[in-house]
Amino acid sequence: MSIQIEGVHKSFGNTRVLHDINLDLPSGQLVGLLGPSGSGKTTLLRIIAGLEHANGGRIRFNDSDVTDLHARDRKVGFVFQNYALFRHMTVFDNIAFGLTIMPKAERPSRADIKRRVGELLEMIQLSHVADRFPAQLSGGQRQRVALARSLAVEPRVLLLDEPFGALDAQVRKELRRWLRRLHDELHFTSIFVTHDQEEALDVSDQVVVMSQGKVEQIGSPDDIWQQPASRFVLEFLGEVN
Ligand code: ADP
Repeated sequence: MSIQIEGVHKSFGNTRVLHDINLDLPSGQLVGLLGPSGSGKTTLLRIIAGLEHANGGRIRFNDSDVTDLHARDRKVGFVFQNYALFRHMTVFDNIAFGLTIMPKAERPSRADIKRRVGELLEMIQLSHVADRFPAQLSGGQRQRVALARSLAVEPRVLLLDEPFGALDAQVRKELRRWLRRLHDELHFTSIFVTHDQEEALDVSDQVVVMSQGKVEQIGSPDDIWQQPASRFVLEFLGEVN
């Protein structure tokens, strides 16, 4: 699913937080949305998701206009930093959840749900903890389950807001590899928000650098690293978190 963002702008009260954003993201890419805190990343992600409405501009998926569609009709998956798993449900049931609440006409059979969840558990290499509860898992394992849960319903687009932010550097690195692997196996389009330069440059096909509600640069990690388009990008890349 390709994503087109055309002339999107957004204000909260008198404060303009997004200025005329234009992006054309090809299908199947893993896109890192990178910028300092307050640059408008989350707001843009929420507008793409349909959780927030822009004051102007259009959002298209595969050139079809979804601007006026509800979040639930856009077929997007989400992973948030503090997107807690259901504590009273096993790992298996957490991953199956989205499938079990589908409208009856679309809901897969019990056997199909079992197979789909089983495949996802295998992909994240957590089949052996299917019957455990979230409290019995490490933070990294929990986020792998959260990833699998968001993918169970086969979203066309996966949106991740600082998905690994709360974890330590080593675990974050490992989770980036998981995201990359799932992305390559399941072929969806994803956008993940991060303020961490290394995180964005490490796994993205394309990086969108934002500052003060504007896109400063878009390009491959190599392009961004080797040819920063502005002083802002150069200085931001030089900062160590
Ligand atoms: P980022 O994700 O890059 O940190 P955000 O999109 O969260 O940036 O925020 C951009 C700006 O919009 C910030 O100045 C923030 O305070 C403001 N903002 C975000 N959400 C709201 C809201 N619901 N009401 C008012 N201001 C908001």
